[in-house]
Amino acid sequence: MPLYSLDAVVIKSRNLGEADKLITLYSRERGKVRAVARGARRPRNRLAASTEIFTHGNYLLFANQGLDNISQCEITESFRGLRESLEGAAAATYCLEIVERMTEEEEPGGDLFPFLLAMLRVLAADEEDLELAVRVFELGLLARLGYLPEFSQCVNCGCEVKQGASFSAALGGVLCGDCRTQDRDAPPVAPDTLAAVRFLVGAPLNRLRNLRLTGSNKAELRQITQSYLRAQLGRDPNSAFFLALVQDGTGPK
Ligand SMILES: [Zn+2]
Repeated sequence: MPLYSLDAVVIKSRNLGEADKLITLYSRERGKVRAVARGARRPRNRLAASTEIFTHGNYLLFANQGLDNISQCEITESFRGLRESLEGAAAATYCLEIVERMTEEEEPGGDLFPFLLAMLRVLAADEEDLELAVRVFELGLLARLGYLPEFSQCVNCGCEVKQGASFSAALGGVLCGDCRTQDRDAPPVAPDTLAAVRFLVGAPLNRLRNLRLTGSNKAELRQITQSYLRAQLGRDPNSAFFLALVQDGTGPK
């Protein structure tokens, strides 16, 4: 039987049939892979813990007609800390959902796997500004998948945008003051928010705690990434509302 192993994180876990689980892994070797864990919902099943969302482990799979089966797993990190923190769990669930929704199966994601692991570790340690960490993750994911919006030059005329900018999710980037009418729904973006978003693209996840951003900068940053992800996905991620509720008591903007 053809066996293969994956260094992977469980990004989605669903019940299947009477006792099985259908899980989606994001792996170092093959990107996103869906597989069945037979009997994982039976009491004391040896696969039960390794099919929980957030779990990082070394998974042994055997190839099948249709979906592959999980044969064994050695857990590397269970990220227990995440399960004990409401904000950490909400942020991690959101990050895993956007990875799941934005990627195709068996599509190599470059260094997306180590980036995802680094994000889970930052969320579990809970020493950073988690809202900013989520922004860095969204931008890093978009950059790695080749969907990063344009934050420097006007997407209509190509000029260098400094002030009077607005962000058009539909057009995929910033518009200068002169081209603002190209998308009348595009909300304005303050110059310091524009500078912040350029800095956050590629910023290290573990160096965010000293960044001083105002509430209005953060609100504009959230509006930028969430409106753009919504345009890419066709709707808000399911977990976006809960994350916004946990972070500030409101829904997505
Ligand atoms: Zn322009």
